[in-house]
Amino acid sequence: MLSIHDAQSHILQHARRNPAVYLSLRHAIGQVLAEDIASDIDSPPYAKSLVDGYAIISADMRRSGVVLDVIEQVTAVNVPKHELCSGQATCIMTGAPMPAGADAVVMVEQTVQVQRHGRASVRIDACDVEVGQHTLAQGAAIQRGEVVFHRDRPVRAIDVGLLSEVGRTRLRVYRRPRIAILATGDELVPPGWIPGPGQIRNSNSAMLAAMVRTAGGQAIDSGICRDDTASLRQAIERGLQCDVLLLSGGVSAGVMDLVPRTLQDLGVEQVFHKVRLRPGKPLWFGTCNRAGCTRLVFGLPGNPVGSLVCFELFVRPVIYKLSGRNTPAPHPTQARLERDYIQRGDRPTYHPALARRGEDGQIVVTALAWKGSADQRAISMANCLIFFPPGAQLFAAGSVVEILWLDRPDR
Ligand code: AMP
Ligand code: MG
Repeated sequence: MLSIHDAQSHILQHARRNPAVYLSLRHAIGQVLAEDIASDIDSPPYAKSLVDGYAIISADMRRSGVVLDVIEQVTAVNVPKHELCSGQATCIMTGAPMPAGADAVVMVEQTVQVQRHGRASVRIDACDVEVGQHTLAQGAAIQRGEVVFHRDRPVRAIDVGLLSEVGRTRLRVYRRPRIAILATGDELVPPGWIPGPGQIRNSNSAMLAAMVRTAGGQAIDSGICRDDTASLRQAIERGLQCDVLLLSGGVSAGVMDLVPRTLQDLGVEQVFHKVRLRPGKPLWFGTCNRAGCTRLVFGLPGNPVGSLVCFELFVRPVIYKLSGRNTPAPHPTQARLERDYIQRGDRPTYHPALARRGEDGQIVVTALAWKGSADQRAISMANCLIFFPPGAQLFAAGSVVEILWLDRPDR
């Protein structure tokens, strides 16, 4: 049986970054840039005032109380018509272009409007005005042609303002992976139904779709498929139109576990079946070619916690890689056990747990009571998984263990 690490590297070897597409800015959020973004303008596009006040020549301000002739008024939308000469000022609003000749702005609060020889004038109650005071030079923030975003970084909501300023309404990003989700099992009914005798609710489809979306993929719910070969063939063939097909159930050793056989009949080549892992041992992984592209197929365990752990360890990294992100492997964090824990198991185990930051700033973690791979209750109380190596062993309070966060938006 494969180790977790070997299974991860086999899978990632088959995953290739998706091709780049153009998306509107709104739809590109969360996707990874496939191009450098350069500004087509200087920012600001012209030297501008940062306050409401008077544009002046700083050399005129040798003493406080100087009176200057006001030659015009410019607001944020009009352009100054007159060049400033010594002894003159232009009334200017925040964001308005600086008139030629001016090299500083005095805030309106430091001025008094006066009349001199019947002309509009202003008294400036300030001295020692520095060149450039309350102004922003053309191109001070960004120069035309300058790269403001480099390729291979995700587009965040907080980047949208700058992208709009540099004129980008469409961006070249790696295409969001399309992930088909197919639940298999004669016993499954939709979550909105009351299960009859021998039936259980299909919780995996909705759970996997939610996980796919948090990882940046597009989830396509392919519904529930019965445990018969003809239905499975049809549903799988449809699912193979997507970049990744996630099946759940039907991959263990039971008589109705038809998934591996059916996949292989359809030309999906098995890369491995079963991983030394608890929960998640029955995991099946294979690949095939459809429409000239590689499709990645996961047969996830039917038991919900097994499905979820396999998603975190094996599927999330694939979604990241297809999306063009460069953090494909889940990275563990070290934490101190808060209480003694006795671990028994023949396989490496990911155990639902609750972690928090202790008073000394270090992370402390407690293993939750958990009844195994069908027990989703423990997962809902958990915020991480503790990794325990195989074998029977007491992990004393205070010992250091590795944890995998479950609810960090960007691992
Ligand atoms: P299987 O691998 O198909 O034998 O399924 C293993 C266990 O997981 C069985 O108890 C199933 O009833 C359960 N199971 C399978 N599929 C789902 C699903 N979509 N949602 C919840 N439980 C499931
Ligand atoms: Mg089944």
